[in-house]
Amino acid sequence: MTQEITFPKRFKFNEIQKKWIKYWKENDIYSFDIDKEGKIFSIDTPPPFVSGTLHLGHVLNHSWIDFVARYHKMRGENVYFPQGFDCHGLPVELAVEKNYGISKNDRDLFLNKCIEWVEENIANMRKQFDDLGYSTDWDYTYRTMDEKYKYKVQKSLLDFYNKGWLYREKFPTHFCVNCETSVAKAEVGYKEEKGSLWYVKLPIVGGENEYITIATTRPEYMEACVGVFAHPNDDRYYHLSAAELKIPFTDRTVRIRMDKNVDMHFGTGIVYCCTYGDEMDIRWKFEYNLDEIQLFTEDGHMNQNSKYHGLTINEARKQIVKDLEEEGLLEKIVDHEHSIVIHSERSSCRKPIEYLPVYQWFIKLKDFKEEIIKAGEAMQWYPEKHKQRLIDWAEGLDWNWVISRQRIFGTPIPFWYCIDCGEIIAPNEEELPLDPVKINPPLETCPKCQSKQIQGEKDVCDCWIDSSITPLAIGKWLEDEQFFKKTYTNAKVHRPQGYEIIRTWLFYTLFRCNKLTGQPPFDEIMINGMVAGPDGRKMSKSFGNIVSPDEVMPEFGADAIRQWAALGTLGDDYPFEYTWYNIHTKQPIKDDLIKKERIKLPRDKFDKKYRRRFEQLIGASRFITKMWNAYRFLYVNLQKMDISNIDQEINEITTVDSFIYSEFNKVLKEVKFALDAYNWHDAFISLKTFFWNDMCDNYIEAIKYKFYSDNVIESNIAIKNALHIFYQMLKIFGIIMPFITEEIYDLLYKQYIKIKSIHLEQFPTDYKNLSQNKIIQGKISLEIIKNLRNIKSKRGIPLNQEIKKIILIIADRTENFNGEMLANIKNTIRINDLQILDTLNEDFNENKNIFKESIEELGISAYIFT
Ligand SMILES: [Zn+2]
Ligand SMILES: [Zn+2]
Repeated sequence: MTQEITFPKRFKFNEIQKKWIKYWKENDIYSFDIDKEGKIFSIDTPPPFVSGTLHLGHVLNHSWIDFVARYHKMRGENVYFPQGFDCHGLPVELAVEKNYGISKNDRDLFLNKCIEWVEENIANMRKQFDDLGYSTDWDYTYRTMDEKYKYKVQKSLLDFYNKGWLYREKFPTHFCVNCETSVAKAEVGYKEEKGSLWYVKLPIVGGENEYITIATTRPEYMEACVGVFAHPNDDRYYHLSAAELKIPFTDRTVRIRMDKNVDMHFGTGIVYCCTYGDEMDIRWKFEYNLDEIQLFTEDGHMNQNSKYHGLTINEARKQIVKDLEEEGLLEKIVDHEHSIVIHSERSSCRKPIEYLPVYQWFIKLKDFKEEIIKAGEAMQWYPEKHKQRLIDWAEGLDWNWVISRQRIFGTPIPFWYCIDCGEIIAPNEEELPLDPVKINPPLETCPKCQSKQIQGEKDVCDCWIDSSITPLAIGKWLEDEQFFKKTYTNAKVHRPQGYEIIRTWLFYTLFRCNKLTGQPPFDEIMINGMVAGPDGRKMSKSFGNIVSPDEVMPEFGADAIRQWAALGTLGDDYPFEYTWYNIHTKQPIKDDLIKKERIKLPRDKFDKKYRRRFEQLIGASRFITKMWNAYRFLYVNLQKMDISNIDQEINEITTVDSFIYSEFNKVLKEVKFALDAYNWHDAFISLKTFFWNDMCDNYIEAIKYKFYSDNVIESNIAIKNALHIFYQMLKIFGIIMPFITEEIYDLLYKQYIKIKSIHLEQFPTDYKNLSQNKIIQGKISLEIIKNLRNIKSKRGIPLNQEIKKIILIIADRTENFNGEMLANIKNTIRINDLQILDTLNEDFNENKNIFKESIEELGISAYIFT
């Protein structure tokens, strides 16, 4: 029943990938059926931001997620594996402004273009996911910009509002004047900067030419100074306690206060408090009830409260320093290295953060940190070490969550407020989703002050508000109660993600889903690290060490890239290695040469002189070739035989089969243990080593002769048993390499197994009822074969050259030798006359035709007659 198919010499992945992607789609191989048997295992995949292209970090992260899905499916669970997209965000707005030249002021047109742009990007990214062999069911995809999704987000905010956990307040907030939006605490970081420390003299009121000198890194805040502080133990200023100082460029005076938070060793030991220069200023303002003077506009200029109205913050700084100098108030300037707060979450920004008092929407977070910690502790962490990141972050939390963003393309905050008294007016639930800027409020007059000045909120939600309900969105929360019960409430829910978003995505999801459903969302979490360049630094444009998946996928294929991903370590950063070489000389470019000659390395693969060599992927390709050749060898031999199935018959299992099967059992146990802990690295190494060394190099070599035997029964049994164990391996390799395994399945196994795809297979079980005696016999013959082969090659005898005679001296163990073992050794090593003896009956002098070798680990001496 052999079909008219051929097994090509090479694995042509480009064509093969296309073929299987199409086939899988058309045959619903990855379709989710909620009514299928098995416990539901839901995967809350991270929705990538819709940049239009996946980077290597995504490839690592999502390859792992695909391994999780495939493995759990094989274990008989009903895996629910949707993939969504995170659509909102500033980069979309910037791209639309830049690419289409449309202004934000044309709101409707602008929003439509945003959607159009996002759609295009999603199409491209979906294709990249498919090319990677990603087994998601696209019927369950979601986009955070969908009306259905917005409904859930807005409904969740309404719930929070009704419970008193959502409020609007004017508050000094981290604000990026570059992006013109407020940002959350989790989105800011620190940067070391070489700056200056300006020593400014402030005149003492009532004194004649008397000054005190403050030191500041931000002279542009001068006009917002509302207090001056010194340490109560600082004798230098004790006599000035409660003195008044005149603030330059204003007609105001401020008081000196004593506060133990002042660092006596910084500058002159006396500092000014401005609203708002830093977090200390905010604390002092509220503690001492100081005035609030706001100087900056949201786009980084000085406002009408400043003499420098209209200048940018930087221009104002220069002018103020100049003016202070002219007035004789600048004592000195010294170099000063300090860390500044920057907008770190968006790598394209990294500009300084200001504190601006603006009306913002907040979610109460501080009150719930204990619950969040509890939800985090209840999950199983892979690896355990990252749990502490969540706990530390939660414990240190002393801010509520600013959820409003001063942007356009986002989920509208579905509320109105009274301009006169600030009263919030909530929407009617049945009108959600809505945009309060576009529709009338449910009330025409303010219920508190009867004002008719009702304003729809223009701000939109922070992206984390969208993405922190992903487990609910995929579970069809508020949409399909049965579905939600099965995929959220009663399912095992798995969260895969990078460690860099533990304090954002994970933290917020635990908090919100727990609050909205009364049940923590996750049973377990798998954490991946970041992809680094070969130098160990994170991939970034400025380091020039970025590799795009589009650069390597066409050259190496998905199965190779996925092998690279499989070798990463759970929870740790992982390098994507390459070395530069000169295309013409083929010589590598050494690091010191790069530095010395200041070679500016090219940024893409089209460079005419230099190119990158990707050793990890070259290694992966070699393994693919090894696999392909092994199965092709079986295929070619199968063509000469006639077997109707590859089922196991216990009496047909030979000694060598028994041994390799029992070794497989051990490997299977190891691999399962590793896969259960999402330890892809160990699982893949075990599999690969066993496949390459034990199965291809030893087992196949030892049974190969049977394929050419005239004994039809013997050759049929041999190929059947070999096909069986090679199939066990193929099924597991399918988790990591879905394309080559499907292709081999199709060519070699489908005729016997008769299911539509290898990816519908169950995880292999171990071989049962193996004969202990046969296992030992198989082990001994394979060991002897291995050693005799080594001896042959050491002595320069071609492996296929026949040897006249070999005598093996095996004290006390000859009775273990049966005819099958002898035949295996004799035929594999090609020995005309093989004798096994307890002791040597006659003496042989070693000469050029007879030599003695010992196989020490087996206690065997071998006399070899050539
Ligand atoms: Zn920014
Ligand atoms: Zn009112």
